[in-house]
Amino acid sequence: MVLIIFGPPGAGKGTQASMITKNYDMLHISTGDMLRAAVKEGAELGNLAKSYMDKGELVPDDVVIGVIREVIKNTNSVNGYLLDGFPRTIPQAEALDRMLNSESLKVDKVVSIEVPDGEIISRIGGRRVCEKCGVMYHKLYDPPKNADVCDKCGGSLYQRDDDREDVIRKRLEVYSRQTLPLKTYYRDASILREIDGLGTIDDVRRRISDSLNQRT
Ligand code: AMP
Repeated sequence: MVLIIFGPPGAGKGTQASMITKNYDMLHISTGDMLRAAVKEGAELGNLAKSYMDKGELVPDDVVIGVIREVIKNTNSVNGYLLDGFPRTIPQAEALDRMLNSESLKVDKVVSIEVPDGEIISRIGGRRVCEKCGVMYHKLYDPPKNADVCDKCGGSLYQRDDDREDVIRKRLEVYSRQTLPLKTYYRDASILREIDGLGTIDDVRRRISDSLNQRT
């Protein structure tokens, strides 16, 4: 099965994707996580990506498509893939369809987590990430036991450069201009499932799981 988890920045894609992949034993592929890892390593890809990410812009299609192509070519996940943060443009979606087709696969479902802009700005502003293990917290909704320290590994928590309010506004603008058209692309293919992203993490998890269990 190939699933896409779709939605604006701060919709909770990463959190929900981790839970789904655990439940269904799928491979979680997050382009954002992969690009951040490349930035941390100081890899050539990372240096290129950082200049776009820090401004809230999308990394060029050919770069991201190349990253995904390598993953799909070099991994063989029995229960399939969950794509988080990819595709983000129509050319990426078309390239994905071609890549999957050559492996006799296709996108089965696209779960779109719907969250209004105002809620996103307050959610992302409070988001903190562990610099060591990448676990995410929220200052209000999911705080660590000790401020700025990761419960899981004791690493320090930090705010991503692209989570600052000015950058979030830019990311939302980029999302509506470049990424939202994908909803029509997947609606036309009858595989789009829209999920209310408000409420607790568990509320949203249940809605997604109900939607995935529906046959149509
Ligand atoms: P995310 O963690 O998914 O919100 O991604 C963080 C940033 O990484 C985005 O704002 C983009 O700059 C970049 N990025 C991640 N995925 C993609 C993608 N599929 N296409 C282009 N840029 C991406």
